[in-house]
Amino acid sequence: MRMMHFYPESWPLHTPFVISRGSRTEARVVVVEIEQDGITGVGECTPYARYGESEQSVIVQLASVTHAMEHDVSREILQQLLPAGAARNAVDCALWDLERQLNNKTLAELVGVTLPARIDMAQTLSINEPELMAQAALEYWQAGARLLKIKLDDSLITERMVAIHTAVPDATLIVDANESWQPEGLAARCQLLADLGVVMLEQPLPAEQDSVLQHFIHPLPICADESCHTRQQLPALKDNYEMVNIKLDKTGGLTEALLLAQQASDQGFAVMLGCMLCTSRGIAAALPLVSFARFIDLDGPTWLSMDAAPHLKYRCGSITL
Ligand SMILES: [Mg+2]
Repeated sequence: MRMMHFYPESWPLHTPFVISRGSRTEARVVVVEIEQDGITGVGECTPYARYGESEQSVIVQLASVTHAMEHDVSREILQQLLPAGAARNAVDCALWDLERQLNNKTLAELVGVTLPARIDMAQTLSINEPELMAQAALEYWQAGARLLKIKLDDSLITERMVAIHTAVPDATLIVDANESWQPEGLAARCQLLADLGVVMLEQPLPAEQDSVLQHFIHPLPICADESCHTRQQLPALKDNYEMVNIKLDKTGGLTEALLLAQQASDQGFAVMLGCMLCTSRGIAAALPLVSFARFIDLDGPTWLSMDAAPHLKYRCGSITL
């Protein structure tokens, strides 16, 4: 017999996080605890409005599976009880955390992977005036980050990119437009990014316009984020995207994320590993996926004024294990 509890938490950010869809000043997460034999497994998720989720909708979904989870339903069955999304992520990760503790293992050991001593990752530049983005890029670079992820919206593309590239000419740059661009002008923008040495462009167009990418010669790899949640989308992404961004809040947990990472790799997609604004609890659950990833973007907790325990050891541009 298990017990399941869940509750929302709010974690203030030290700096507003601005992307094309809007600005955030706090990370709002929902935590799930599943207790068995005096041991508590913990999972965390970030409800995301873009995917039709709210704190309330996630709590309703969690309430709907509490009885089943308390009657020892397995992770495999959970995949059929809830759709891919934040609520399933928190339950799935709580079950993994419980299982690893019951087996006296780390999560990586339980999954069967070896983690490096240091995980190099992107630091994210949120949208701001070009000179302030350039200044933030330089500060990240001087603090040790070598991979920078630049959030953009539909304006000041050249100004922002040239300012950043001039400030940190040796940094590896990736760009995320979060669906804010349109097919018109996409080619010229991609060429600008390619000319500046940008190594990847994430989700330039709204997900429903993916077919535009099919006959578009990409001068740099394009990565599906909002367009890729689970293995189900992979067939439609072929020929449109070269990469997929895997996040546990989209896959609905580590169980599906591992299957998606394997299948995407087998089908020739390069993998990026991403996150929402979350605490170290949400990131720890994703670490078994790092060996699949060309780019790792797990800097969510670095935006928090204070992180949840157990803290991962973040430095600028890396996590030390
Ligand atoms: Mg993205």
